[in-house]
Amino acid sequence: MANFHLQLPYKITAFSASASPNGSPPGVPQSKGPAILELPLDKIRRPLMRTRANDPHKVKQLMESISEIGLQVPIDVLEVEGEYYGFSGCHRYEAHQRLGLPTIRCKVRRGTKETLRHHLR
Ligand code: ADP
Repeated sequence: MANFHLQLPYKITAFSASASPNGSPPGVPQSKGPAILELPLDKIRRPLMRTRANDPHKVKQLMESISEIGLQVPIDVLEVEGEYYGFSGCHRYEAHQRLGLPTIRCKVRRGTKETLRHHLR
């Protein structure tokens, strides 16, 4: 049987220039849907990181898989007033950290401070 290898553009590395879906200037579009951005790990604030432990086995499996085939599903990130916040995708984030990868592919939605407060409740 033929063996197909799916090649996806997961190696976008530019932080500022990568990503808006409509070719508009860098950043997250105001009125459009989420943008896919390759963000540096250290630009993503993770306010709940200390309160939730990851499953080390899951992280290890993700590290192996991400090394082999890359991140297949971006993590969700909220952008509020130019700052990025991550509340989920914790195992994928840690896998990237442990692999020493500088950036992670994110699905970025823009929100308000009220949205942020809602996530922190
Ligand atoms: P997380 O805390 O990151 O959401 P989970 O273990 O709950 O961790 O889910 C892992 C997620 O990572 C799944 O949604 C899966 O589809 C996604 N994923 C993205 N890239 C990969 C990959 N290369 N190998 C395995 N899962 C991947």
